[in-house]
Amino acid sequence: MQKVAFIGLGHMGGPMAANLVKAGFTVTAFDLSEAALVQAEAQGCKRGGSAHEAAAGADAVISMLTTGEVVRGIYLGARGLLQALDDGTLVIDCSTIAASDARQLVSAARERSLPAIDAPVSGGTAAAEAGTLSFMCGGDASAVDAARPLLEAMGANVFHAGPAGSGQVAKICNNMLLAIHMIGTAEALQMGVDNGLDPKVVSDIMRASSGGNWSLEKYNPYPGVMEGVPASRGYEGGFSVQLMLKDLGLAMDTAAGSASSTPLGALAKNLYQLHGGDPDNQMLDFSSIQNMFRRPAGD
Ligand code: NAD
Repeated sequence: MQKVAFIGLGHMGGPMAANLVKAGFTVTAFDLSEAALVQAEAQGCKRGGSAHEAAAGADAVISMLTTGEVVRGIYLGARGLLQALDDGTLVIDCSTIAASDARQLVSAARERSLPAIDAPVSGGTAAAEAGTLSFMCGGDASAVDAARPLLEAMGANVFHAGPAGSGQVAKICNNMLLAIHMIGTAEALQMGVDNGLDPKVVSDIMRASSGGNWSLEKYNPYPGVMEGVPASRGYEGGFSVQLMLKDLGLAMDTAAGSASSTPLGALAKNLYQLHGGDPDNQMLDFSSIQNMFRRPAGD
């Protein structure tokens, strides 16, 4: 399996495609954004003129798109990509979408005898660049095994969660928890600062104490505490508030479907809705929720 088509070269897909090139795969890439395509070419990808052109003759197609609607639009229907792929082409969708959309994609692929899996990721843009993502796969074990060499070129962990859609369920459980601990971290840091503590000092203390968590340790939301994270570059790049809101919506739908109680998830969604209500915040990284708690200077 050498020839790979990569569709969706955004914050995550761009570095993921670059890591496949570094691992020796021949990658033909496509994105609607010209800037993303230019960057992918600079990183060694070939340019596809469309998703269909990128996928022609590929052994595997990997997609990293925003929503289920976009994924369905590309793959499904009479003119969709699934109808154009060579027999046996492996389909790996890494986007975070509803489990029901993932099941629909895998079952439409099965009708065409194409092995397919959902393989959403965790780790953020830093892990996408470092090739240390965690993949949460749903689908047949044989398809997950076939995907492993590709996934291992982009990640450090490959989990098989269960049948089609299971990767998405695992991902949405993870992201609901991520939103909750990001908000908790932001409010705790602010309380420390409001009471005269240096945010670096209180971060160091909580990291080594029982409040330690990923948001605090790897993605600190308070500006200036940690280098290389969105908080230290005006919350640019990273994982947008808009995408976190999409994931929290998927989490609430999942909870409703299983009659699960998710009071903190519901509160997290409400707080992100409030934060994202300002259009200026929508495209900022989700750690910008810190701004909701910060006081204007001089207060
Ligand atoms: P992004 O918006 O940066 O990238 C999406 C890319 O898809 C864009 O470059 C866009 O031009 C392209 N695109 C949209 N429609 C297209 C189409 N029809 N054909 C071709 N290209 C198209 O998003 P992202 O941050 O890279 O996230 C991608 C997915 O990964 C989302 O589902 C997100 O929830 C998930 N995710 C993101 C992060 C993160 O930290 N950013 C982490 C884990 C998972």
